[in-house]
Amino acid sequence: MNDVTLPAAPIAWPTGFRAAANLGFDLDSEDVALTIDPGTRDRLSVMSHQAYGALTGVPRVLDLLDRFDLKATFFAPGYTVERYPDLLRRIRDAGHEIAHHGYLHEAMAGLSYAEEAAIIDRGIESLEKVLGVRPVGYRAPLWETSYSTAEILLDRGFLYDSSLMDSDLPYELAERPGEGARSIVEIPVSWALDDWEQFAFVPEVFGPGVIEDPAKALSMWTGELTEAYRYESCFTLTIHPFLSGRLGRIRALESLLETMAAMPELWVTTCGEIAEHVRGLDLVPRVFPQPDIPER
Ligand SMILES: [Zn+2]
Repeated sequence: MNDVTLPAAPIAWPTGFRAAANLGFDLDSEDVALTIDPGTRDRLSVMSHQAYGALTGVPRVLDLLDRFDLKATFFAPGYTVERYPDLLRRIRDAGHEIAHHGYLHEAMAGLSYAEEAAIIDRGIESLEKVLGVRPVGYRAPLWETSYSTAEILLDRGFLYDSSLMDSDLPYELAERPGEGARSIVEIPVSWALDDWEQFAFVPEVFGPGVIEDPAKALSMWTGELTEAYRYESCFTLTIHPFLSGRLGRIRALESLLETMAAMPELWVTTCGEIAEHVRGLDLVPRVFPQPDIPER
């Protein structure tokens, strides 16, 4: 059996900073409902719920980021890019990073190498065609990657992925065990730092959803942010504008940004910038071999 490489910590942040933070906005729209159930295209109310992000949430998010003078990463499914091209251009022109988030927000679990690669190619094509952006970053829809994802991304020139959950710190992930393997920067995520678990509620589409008090989400995220700052770690928050763009929730996000602004040594930046910094550290890539099933 191949050994799993243990993480090296801490990592050195740029001079003047003790910790990093990324605000990641996953631009799931109608696509995320359509991929779960194509029949939702006939349900205008469901479609309108999903469109809230593009029509109402994102403009609010952009204003908020502008007021705090922050740059964020927007992970965009190709379908969203093609359905809302003007909005995506506005995000791009505001200087935010636009990264890859599948095409129709497809669940990648169980797909073949060729199927996964084809979806990633289709997403790249949308970003290039509509925005003239060649993405360097990828976040798998549902954070569902395979043992082939790193190789597929590296073959297409990607610098980083942000879908795994085995660390609080970015690291270099080897595409496979063994000599000559390339590596991709991994910027890990966490279910606790995702607004989906707090606010996703669409009956018969998203399963048993919840609608939590924004104050509860704010309290959780502020606690995690405080500890990330103390442990010189990387706070990676995942926000869906169709959920968190609503009034009470955007106010909670604003409060979180106020807390961030009061942390003088917190580097709040895009995943692309974090990945470039990590690449410059020359870290030894970690290997995460697929577990064996022991014989009985
Ligand atoms: Zn998503």
